[in-house]
Amino acid sequence: MRGLMQDTPLTVDAIFRHVEQHYGDGTIVTNNPGGVTRATYAEWAQRTRRLGGVLDTLGISADGRVGTFGWNSQRHLELYFAAPCTGRVLHTLNVRLFPEQLTYIANHAEDEVIFVDRSVLQILWPLIDTMKTVKQVVVMDDGAGTEIPDDARILDYETLLADAEPVDFHVTDEWRAASMCYTSGTTGNPKGVVYSHRSTFLHTMGVLMPNAFGLGVNDVAMPVVPMFHANAWGIAQAAPAAGASLVMPGAMMQPEALAMLILEEGVTFTAGVPTIWQGVLPHLAGKQHRLRDIGCGGSAVPKALSEAYREQVGIPILQAWGMTETHPVASSGILPPRYQDADDETKATQRARAGIPFLGVEARIVDSDTLEPQPWDDKATGELQVRGPWCAQEYYNPDAGVELTTPDGWMKTGDVAAMDEFGSVRIADRTKDLIKSGGEWISSVDLENAIMSHPKVKEAAVVGIPHPKWDERPLACVVLNEGESATEEEILEHLKPLVAKWWMPEAVEFIDEVPKTSVGKFSKKDLRSRFAEYELKS
Ligand code: ADP
Repeated sequence: MRGLMQDTPLTVDAIFRHVEQHYGDGTIVTNNPGGVTRATYAEWAQRTRRLGGVLDTLGISADGRVGTFGWNSQRHLELYFAAPCTGRVLHTLNVRLFPEQLTYIANHAEDEVIFVDRSVLQILWPLIDTMKTVKQVVVMDDGAGTEIPDDARILDYETLLADAEPVDFHVTDEWRAASMCYTSGTTGNPKGVVYSHRSTFLHTMGVLMPNAFGLGVNDVAMPVVPMFHANAWGIAQAAPAAGASLVMPGAMMQPEALAMLILEEGVTFTAGVPTIWQGVLPHLAGKQHRLRDIGCGGSAVPKALSEAYREQVGIPILQAWGMTETHPVASSGILPPRYQDADDETKATQRARAGIPFLGVEARIVDSDTLEPQPWDDKATGELQVRGPWCAQEYYNPDAGVELTTPDGWMKTGDVAAMDEFGSVRIADRTKDLIKSGGEWISSVDLENAIMSHPKVKEAAVVGIPHPKWDERPLACVVLNEGESATEEEILEHLKPLVAKWWMPEAVEFIDEVPKTSVGKFSKKDLRSRFAEYELKS
């Protein structure tokens, strides 16, 4: 017997219409270099429909790729909806990528037009002749003083919008591509992930659940995680969908500016990678705020950072796990009630987990070669694999040389994890960051967490360095808090009670800063090449 319910497509324009019809009085604030701008969702919706008209006037093909090169802003949100709602495919380009990667991505995706913030025009424009399919560049003037070259290919966003007619949105095929995003490519060429309307709709509902970000009409959400990377963790769709107001940091990504927005705009929910929250902490400590949750993920969230927020800001960090290939959010480390009466240390340890997968996502840990399931005893580790309607089936560029899905239909994450009896995930490491010492694996993440619990330590990244006897041994690269000094012995002494003897770093290097990737994660690749020839002292 079949169910007798309607078959209405799960599309991005269904989200758009919902916001337009019901939440017109919600607001979007953008902190541009030229000053703060404000609009209601009603105004945004009107402009988004006219932007659909602009895409028609520009002659963008029926499923043409609409590139964007900009910060989180109201205009970027207009593009987030106008492109997919007219059947086109939004393609967000990461403004921090290397020039060769940007050229590769724009050519591979076959972008027809790129919408660019004036403040980053000088990064994009020199590359424009290498981007073979790009016919126009539309400048979104955010008030930065950047010079605009005199070239017929350059158009002005507001002028186009003023001249355009609003259009109707009618996407009927939920499997149609809505947007695409390339992973930053820690190895080889960036890999293209293509989100469908259906996956976007379901992911939006997923991140709206109370166990996830739980946004509602009374929230003011500030995505610090960029719209140019990993779909801004779904917040750019989820906040309007729930009628929550949005605060967009624009190009103003300095810690002081972010803290100012949180405090002055009454932000209740925000999200970003750990390095962002590391920088913002001193500007929020001890201040009156309305925050109820600070989402954090993209790389391991140090327990010490979450605890510092709990102690100094009054709320711990809410950990989330995911990857571009999972839209990107797939689980959160929300504390289950069984830990309600636990001591602070136990709670902090639990919060440091990637946690329970959201409804819609299933997770397993397996031996990556044999696919043998590993026990859920929180000790055994294996490759974390996931499946669900917002997990990618394959890459847009299969030539990237990576087989994403196992023969039995699970998506390989490249992360190594353990799961407890309730299936709560604890990420041990990325496969390529594990340190193989004497045939046994050492988790760089666990070591970093232990080192970062030292009060003098600001950041720590642990990488494997070649060792004649043990194959690899851990090298701890440590950044101290400003004005502090410490010795190698002091750090190792601190670690002794915290980690197994054979996990102890072979050496400690004090460095000025941990190199970061284009999205602010620790770049272990850079550290590994910097210390490739490392001479061990003993
Ligand atoms: P990339 O970092 O390769 O550019 P993504 O932004 O998609 O691409 O990163 C996904 C990866 O980030 C995951 O596979 C995982 O290794 C790491 N990650 C994400 N969230 C967490 C988390 N909460 N804890 C530990 N690692 C995380």
